[in-house]
Amino acid sequence: MHEFSAACSIVDTALEAARNNNATKVTVVNIELGQFTFIIPEQLAFNFEIASKNTILEGADLRIKNVKGRLACKDCSFEGDSEVDRDLPPQLAIFAPMKCPKCGSSSTRITGGKDFIITNIEAEIAESSA
Ligand SMILES: [Zn+2]
Repeated sequence: MHEFSAACSIVDTALEAARNNNATKVTVVNIELGQFTFIIPEQLAFNFEIASKNTILEGADLRIKNVKGRLACKDCSFEGDSEVDRDLPPQLAIFAPMKCPKCGSSSTRITGGKDFIITNIEAEIAESSA
């Protein structure tokens, strides 16, 4: 289950960052989600909710910013953002962006958008008693 392992990894990373900053509760986790992760944002948010149960992340708002994938075409040497035909149904559209937006060739290489990264976490920090 792709989305679940991604959600677990986001929870682990966010927890570590929270601990390092003496956070008592995480309220918002902002992430950038690359198009070529083929992760469905709604599924990720759902799995994040499950994976964060009983941690200080429970109830946190997962805010997902979608980032376009980048392609390099071997046929016409195009390099840049992939494009998705918005009319395609989602189950087909996730494969469509692999095509070169310039010449339509399928001999493309992915050059970006394969990752998801946590950009920022909003948390409540414990009052220092010292
Ligand atoms: Zn091309």
